Amino acid sequence: MPNATGPAPADRCDETPGRLRPVVDRDRCEGKEACVEVCPYDVLAMGTLASEERRALSWLGWFKSLAHGWRQAYAVRADQCHACGLCVEACPEKAIKLARA
Ligand code: SF4
Repeated sequence: MPNATGPAPADRCDETPGRLRPVVDRDRCEGKEACVEVCPYDVLAMGTLASEERRALSWLGWFKSLAHGWRQAYAVRADQCHACGLCVEACPEKAIKLARA
């Protein structure tokens, strides 16, 4: 149902899952899990950065990720994303965007 700020998230869902997928910015994610909690399709889950992912971080991203135990969000079921945008809105670090698969 539309509201003052635009369509409600559920109304924005793509009926065909997987056309858009969440992309997590590894230099921004601080593992706060808001995206995991809000996703209605269990697309996102917490994981631990692999050593090659740690090496690819910016220096600031490296320090932030170290401080948070290397835990970040991963799109483990990206093919089930319905592009509602709830994770994008929920992330306090603005670390998630939706991109074409
Ligand atoms: S856009 Fe919606 S369905 Fe897709 S990962 Fe984010 S919260 Fe889940």
